[in-house]
Amino acid sequence: MNEGGDSEAARIARARLPDGLRPETLAVRTALAPSQHGENSEGLFLTSTYVQPDAQTSARRFERMEDFTYARTSNPTVRSLEQRLAAMEGAEGCVATATGMSAILLMIMGLLKAGDHVVCSRSVFGSTVSLFAKEFSKFGVETSFVSQTEIAEWRAALRPSTRLLFAETPTNPLTDVCDIRALADLAHDAGALLTVDNTFCSPVLQRPLALGADLVMHAGTKYLDGQGRVMAGALCGPNRLIVDVFGPTLRTAGMTLAPFNAWVVLKGLETLRLRMKAQSDAALQVAHWLERHPAVSRVYYPALASHPQHELAMAQQSGQGGAVLSFDVKAGSPERARAAAFHVIDSTRVLSIATNLGDTKSIITHPATTSHGRLTEAQRQASGIGQGLVRLAVGLEHVDDITDDLQRGLGSLS
Ligand SMILES: *Cc1c(COP(=O)(O)O)cnc(C)c1O
Repeated sequence: MNEGGDSEAARIARARLPDGLRPETLAVRTALAPSQHGENSEGLFLTSTYVQPDAQTSARRFERMEDFTYARTSNPTVRSLEQRLAAMEGAEGCVATATGMSAILLMIMGLLKAGDHVVCSRSVFGSTVSLFAKEFSKFGVETSFVSQTEIAEWRAALRPSTRLLFAETPTNPLTDVCDIRALADLAHDAGALLTVDNTFCSPVLQRPLALGADLVMHAGTKYLDGQGRVMAGALCGPNRLIVDVFGPTLRTAGMTLAPFNAWVVLKGLETLRLRMKAQSDAALQVAHWLERHPAVSRVYYPALASHPQHELAMAQQSGQGGAVLSFDVKAGSPERARAAAFHVIDSTRVLSIATNLGDTKSIITHPATTSHGRLTEAQRQASGIGQGLVRLAVGLEHVDDITDDLQRGLGSLS
């Protein structure tokens, strides 16, 4: 690959970014160096294996797990995504996975063994609860579920065998916020690690590692992609975990992210800052509008002064609420509340009736019959997810078109 010394040297100088670049720049520029073709946008490498220059080099690469050997282990497009997301989270390293759930699977397979104990908020993503409560318990990893906001409950749940605290903030759908720094201190005093699912805020609004967390987990399916196209996941943290622990586990167990999906998310990261800001600003406007609406009894959104953890949220989330909010429609009995919520949802003509978030298209959801449908009515009542609750994941439409769409149903509730 001898294609002229001078231009090659110039290219290498450009490929190695200077120190001290700001987050906006890192989100656009961090990646592997371009190939000999000099592509300005990161390439999509669809290949299941890599040709080695000679047997000796091949042996070394396999032994040290370096460079590129086989696509279950590593891929240049995936590596670029890992480097960029690590830079944005302020992490030493990152390992990308096929989905958000497989990032949690990789984390537990890599870190824990039978007899180990986990403390987890009971308000985390529904499949996360199932994964800990049902799947990991089969292998002897036990989980205690505690209040999202009462730190004393976390402390009381600690055991000598506790290895991990797992939190997600803000939660879905009620946007409860936990204190990352306080949980990190608690974990470290107990000789455990703290992992934070940062899917809802993304590193643009919240950087858990800077607040003391040991690992950040992502469902890249949501805001990192940002346009509802692909599934992806990731863990970010120190290389003693990312490279030494999760690297070998992923190489063996194969929760590998597909290169095409990595390429889509890599592109998504370039506009993440703009999207999060716009969607979060719009969500605040919608939240204010809902708070004034006579047919709405309560709005759940961290940037509202009425939110129980408003000050903590603003300090922890760069003064932003994020793009997900929920509200209760006014109604008497659970049956009437459900009918009213369904009426609001079914009267929309712009919003998507779906269960996802992090899309440019706003999504409206009835949590009690979808994401939280598997709970008993008593469990739902205990977690505050009533039949009248509606969740909105605000996208990039004009905010007046979103409120007009909500008004179609809210304005005609009897
Ligand atoms: C969607 C989501 C997950 C799971 O991610 P998948 O990519 O769907 O596997 C985990 N945590 C949160 C907060 C999520 O929103």
